[in-house]
Amino acid sequence: MAFAGTKQKCTACEKTVYLVDMLTADNRVFHKSCFRCHHCKGTLKLSNYNSFEGVLYRMPHFDQLFKRRQP
Ligand SMILES: [Zn+2]
Ligand SMILES: [Zn+2]
Repeated sequence: MAFAGTKQKCTACEKTVYLVDMLTADNRVFHKSCFRCHHCKGTLKLSNYNSFEGVLYRMPHFDQLFKRRQP
């Protein structure tokens, strides 16, 4: 028998994540529902996010918050 009960914790809410609700990004584990922008709470896509110290942002917001604003 494999270790079916491997327990991973969501990086965002620190609760247990089950396989059906798991999303892995940046070598971290999230609930699908927790994979959202810290800034606007918008749902993220794997192709459209950035993370800073485990906190997720949508790319435009990441740019706004951490890079100089473009004119
Ligand atoms: Zn979570
Ligand atoms: Zn956002």
